[in-house]
Amino acid sequence: MRIVLEGGTVLICDAERRALSEGSVVIEDGRIVSVGEALRPDLPSEERVDCRGCVVMPGLVNSHVHLGEHLFKGLLEDVDFEGVFYSTLFAWEGRLTPQLVRCASLAAAVESLRCGVTTIADMYHHADATAEAVQAVGIRAVLGQKVLGFSLGRPPVASADGVDYRFDRGAFRDQLAAACEFADRVNGSASGRITTALCPHATNTLEPWMLERVAEEADRRSLRVHMHVAQMESERDDVAAHSGMGCIEILDSTGLLTERLLAAHAIFVSESEVKQLSARRVGVAHNPVANAKDGGLVAPVHLFRAQGVDIALGTDAFHMNLLETARFAVYLHRARAGDARFVSPEDVLEWATLGGARALGMSDEIGSLEPGKRADLLVVDLQALNLVPWHNPAAAVLYHADPRNLRLVMVDGRVVVENGTVSTVDAEAVNREFASASDEVQRRIGVGGGR
Ligand SMILES: [Zn+2]
Repeated sequence: MRIVLEGGTVLICDAERRALSEGSVVIEDGRIVSVGEALRPDLPSEERVDCRGCVVMPGLVNSHVHLGEHLFKGLLEDVDFEGVFYSTLFAWEGRLTPQLVRCASLAAAVESLRCGVTTIADMYHHADATAEAVQAVGIRAVLGQKVLGFSLGRPPVASADGVDYRFDRGAFRDQLAAACEFADRVNGSASGRITTALCPHATNTLEPWMLERVAEEADRRSLRVHMHVAQMESERDDVAAHSGMGCIEILDSTGLLTERLLAAHAIFVSESEVKQLSARRVGVAHNPVANAKDGGLVAPVHLFRAQGVDIALGTDAFHMNLLETARFAVYLHRARAGDARFVSPEDVLEWATLGGARALGMSDEIGSLEPGKRADLLVVDLQALNLVPWHNPAAAVLYHADPRNLRLVMVDGRVVVENGTVSTVDAEAVNREFASASDEVQRRIGVGGGR
């Protein structure tokens, strides 16, 4: 089947950052076959979509998210995650079921598509339930089953003396085996839309020998490793106390610091560690909204840029609007730098598209509108009141667009959202099921009391 998007401003978002003021994008069987300046009146009218007044651009890539954690949305909005991890979150996660994670994943995936996110990189418990949701909703995903160094049934305990992680060899081996089995079985499913990764939780929640085992399994399968890295001060301090190393150094010593690593956060890292990230071509998933909300944590993006580290963007928990995240990233880093020219709209849109694709090892398939790539794209209505007048299309989208401006969202050449309506699932039913699942979670963990 052929679809031609014609007459729009085309933000190709390739390495040269090309844009066409009035172009056409031709899609056949899920792939982009041509991108050009000319309109295509030669093609049948039923195949042509009039995109005049719109921007056609690549779909957004959310490089770090936990769809299932949507169940705790509203319960952990104003907390310092540093303490909550050990006191609360792991114990709560131990009470989840596949059905609850499926409901949350459906809701969060629908919301992601509505926000123009066409690819997510997710790590969570009950990953099969998330895969089922991804399959139904029609988004693209890199999924992994989370691996911890302890049992969720016997989570770490924090005291004035620090954290006792209650590491458990047997529990780790079972979780790694399950994660590998999931990765092998699910990789390439949903007509290739789902690929898999191994997802150790963080540098401090597994012992070094456990990280080595994960690296060996990932190497054997040539899989990506998606994990939290230097997200918290306590993570850096615990790793230093036990090994004398930084978080990046411990990854290097355990064999995980390769170009297949997707490092989420990378906040508490030294300048020399940033150089290591760059030298090994490690992609960093930067989560500015989640980090700032956690008490003003700010990743050293100025060092990433100075050293040429590949930057991608993620929303982490509870938030799905990657465009909001991209916009916030500009404000945050300009405020920090005291420089109105620190990062351009084109820089940050690259983090949200091609940068994400690079970090996921998928830049040959997605991230820009180039012939041969999968047709994951957005049509943004630039004639809306909140967007006119505009001069630079990248700036208009970054500073002023919001989900209601998305006329069309496409994944793999299939229209999944049209004028705000998701076409793949019954969004109202998803909403109802998610509300019931949220109630069930609150009963299970014994907190909450309202929607
Ligand atoms: Zn996370």
